[in-house]
Amino acid sequence: MKNRSNTIQDLKTLNPQLIIIGGGITGAGIFVDAQSRGISTLLVEMQDFAGGTSSRSTKLIHGGLRYLKQLDFKVVKQTGRERKVVKNIAPHLTQSIRVRLPIQKNGSLGKFSTKLALTAYEYLAQVEGKDKHDFYSSENLTNNDKLEPEGLKGAYDYLEYQTDDSRLTIENIKKGVELGGTALNYCKVEAFIYSENGQIAGVKLRDQLSGEHYETKCEHVISATGPWVDEVCRFEDAQKPDKLILTKGVHLVFKNEDFPLTSAYYFDTADHRMIFTIPYQNVTYVGTTDTIYTTNKVDPHTSKEDVAYLLKNITNRFQLKLTENQIISSWSGLRPLIQQAGKGPSEISRKDEIFISEAGLYSIAGGKLTGYRLMAQKILDKLIRNTSIQVKPCTTDLIKLSGGDFKVNEQESTLQNIINQGLKVNVNEIISQHLFSKFGTNAIQIFNLLKTKKENFKTYNCPSYILASLHYCLENEFVIHPTDFAIRRMGMLYFEPQLLSEVKMDIVNYMTDYYSWSTDIKILYTEELETSIYHSTNFK
Ligand code: FAD
Repeated sequence: MKNRSNTIQDLKTLNPQLIIIGGGITGAGIFVDAQSRGISTLLVEMQDFAGGTSSRSTKLIHGGLRYLKQLDFKVVKQTGRERKVVKNIAPHLTQSIRVRLPIQKNGSLGKFSTKLALTAYEYLAQVEGKDKHDFYSSENLTNNDKLEPEGLKGAYDYLEYQTDDSRLTIENIKKGVELGGTALNYCKVEAFIYSENGQIAGVKLRDQLSGEHYETKCEHVISATGPWVDEVCRFEDAQKPDKLILTKGVHLVFKNEDFPLTSAYYFDTADHRMIFTIPYQNVTYVGTTDTIYTTNKVDPHTSKEDVAYLLKNITNRFQLKLTENQIISSWSGLRPLIQQAGKGPSEISRKDEIFISEAGLYSIAGGKLTGYRLMAQKILDKLIRNTSIQVKPCTTDLIKLSGGDFKVNEQESTLQNIINQGLKVNVNEIISQHLFSKFGTNAIQIFNLLKTKKENFKTYNCPSYILASLHYCLENEFVIHPTDFAIRRMGMLYFEPQLLSEVKMDIVNYMTDYYSWSTDIKILYTEELETSIYHSTNFK
């Protein structure tokens, strides 16, 4: 991979055909699609890749059962079928999980209507055979998960896929670079360059690390800036009204021993919403809330009210007395929803939409993580139809992402091979499985580093596999700040906060040595990591 300063130096002369603004999952998907069709592309992201909504979702590749309620059959059909495609191109990042829908007396989910909805869902999403739903009556339901038994009539059990949203984003970006594209994080688009006839012909950029300004010319610009779509549209016309409405969704994380679950659940709330509780690694996470949001988009925080709402709903559904003190982490994200007059936050459709300005800016917003590849195809098809670019057809349904270069039915043998390779460098089976679930077959490169950098890693206190992963991410995954690694490459802040508190200074020290940071920079980035850790468990 080209190093960052070389990429920055090339900005003036790059002249890509396409510039994509926004390195969340939507921009990352467009990047792979464009580059694989032969369009030379530059992707720029003002924070870290996946620093916006794409590291803050419920982390499911799902057909959106709830959209049946809104009669969004097309969304259900497309995203439901798309699950298989994502599973094929990123098998290491897509694990199937069974989810239970409890049916409660006087609840908003009726036994008959839920059966109907699941049957329609599975028909639209082409779910087959043993993957189809089952029903367990309350007598046959082994209630190890301490579901509230009063009024419990039973539960449906159906299939979803769990993913790692920020890793799905980064694996797309790595693939786009492998296909010849250029990607830069911490680089903000501040304005457009216009041609004589008033069409957008490039962007004005600010390197967020050095503060330097650059200009890059191009033929086309796509804004995939999620919650910032309106802001970017206003680069053209400061008076442009908002097209989006933002809602905040919060997730809370508990230790597995405090909230033990044998299955994921998706249950209805008293205010007619739906909440997930998902066992993952050694934790259970719960979400989400859905409230209108109008303030700081870069770092939305979890509030006391968000915590109270989720705790109340868990307590209503499970025989558990969880308290705020048992929350080990949390995250909150913003849904960029297309405004629909007269609808409440949870009623607004999650459909994606494309806006094209007179000066030729293509913007895409709304949609789901699950449908990112289809969104990319849709906007590029539109751009290609409206212009004279000659390109190859879309093939992203067949392009294996970085680390996912094996068949779905080879998952077990591929993992076993990784475990065997790991044992040769003293990595135990559990850690190898963990690395495989993050890096797929690229885990082999991490094992190689454990051999070649063994002596160097010994000079730090933390487990060598973490330093090898960090080194791999520094060289291959655009890690600039310690938070990039701890939050978006490894998910440690959310899922291993105890481990993070033990190794955080080793991460900072290793990066200080790698980048030769000054004391001031080291202090700045350490504070940034400490602040993220603080906000994950302290609520106002
Ligand atoms: P973002 O990820 O926000 O990316 C936009 C990027 O643009 C940001 O990183 C931002 O920094 C960058 N940017 C903005 N302005 C500029 C600029 N001027 N210059 C450079 N860069 C800029 N979907 C699912 O399929 N499954 C789920 O389980 C699920 N759960 C969800 C739960 C919650 C709480 C939320 C909020 C959403 C959930 N979603 C889910 C939806 C999904 O997460 C989003 O649809 C998706 O992540 C949006 O991605 P994006 O790339 O469009 O936006």
